[in-house]
Amino acid sequence: MITASHAARLLPPGSDWRALWRDAITDPHELLAAVGLEHLAGRLPPDDAGFALRVPRGFVARMRRGDAADPLLLQVMPQLAELDRVDGFGTDAVGDLAARPAQGVLHKYQGRALLIASGSCAVNCRYCFRRHFPYGEEMAAAGQWRKALEHVRQDASISELILSGGDPLALATGKLEELGRGLAGIPHVIRLRIHTRLPVVLPERIDESFVRWLAGLPLQKVVVLHANHANEFDAGVDAACARLREAGATLLNQSVLLRGVNDDADTLATLSERLFAAGVLPYYLHQLDRVQGAAHFEVDDARALALAEAIRHRLPGYLVPKLVREVGGEASKRPL
Ligand SMILES: *Cc1c(COP(=O)(O)O)cnc(C)c1O
Ligand code: SF4
Repeated sequence: MITASHAARLLPPGSDWRALWRDAITDPHELLAAVGLEHLAGRLPPDDAGFALRVPRGFVARMRRGDAADPLLLQVMPQLAELDRVDGFGTDAVGDLAARPAQGVLHKYQGRALLIASGSCAVNCRYCFRRHFPYGEEMAAAGQWRKALEHVRQDASISELILSGGDPLALATGKLEELGRGLAGIPHVIRLRIHTRLPVVLPERIDESFVRWLAGLPLQKVVVLHANHANEFDAGVDAACARLREAGATLLNQSVLLRGVNDDADTLATLSERLFAAGVLPYYLHQLDRVQGAAHFEVDDARALALAEAIRHRLPGYLVPKLVREVGGEASKRPL
């Protein structure tokens, strides 16, 4: 088990994740300047289509300068194509509005309840369904988790609690400690799963007090990261992954298949290899949720299946993510 002093040694000195969070780039012109693409300002949409740019500076530092097709830049930069209205792309793409037994709880699948722990993210990913979901009113953490935990307590079939969002690690560690205390009284929950993009986009979040909290939880622990391209990894992300593993978490990754970002076999294979190097196994490769404003990222099913077959031929089975789509009302993610 990791000790506090060990965690502190692994963390670069002076990295306060809240300060870095607040310091994120939110002005598209500033982002273009940071990557040497000022001359592309004319390609920005006139407004942000209701979903502001937000990206931590450490993630921007991993973008290639002068490359308008950089796979990290494309994930966060507002584009004119977002303004297109495309048939079939709506605002409740995954049926979330119909699956809420209590405030902040989504209970769609057997044995697993998902808490919308936070409405915020350190990064705004342009393809995300969050751009339309009314998370503001839907946070399990509001009211000290009381209603959400009451639902979990009363349903003994729930063995795994999933923290999602938004990004659950947007919450202060003190808030997570409250949750841990609430879970201590619910013996049928044996596993805590955290879905988070923060170890990738703001690895400083995995700080000493968070690691101490995670290591001390008397539960099985799974952290599901979200990275779409190998370039999202650097030494800081590797160190955050190492700290999570030392705290006893199994690390998995989910990606979204995104046109122009990761829709070729080399890119997907390299991502899987890079994940493994960081101690992370690929879990899901998601077909895009059909949300308004994200149609330009879609890869059709025939190509998605061809890509999945290509990487299956190249990689050991444990490095091949499951290609899935989320379909409202179904009992699991649907394999393609
Ligand atoms: C995706 C999801 C889960 C987790 O599904 P797994 O297949 O176990 O990863 C659980 N609950 C909800 C509401 C989900 O959307
Ligand atoms: S929920 Fe995940 S995919 Fe969506 S904006 Fe936040 S970090 Fe990005």
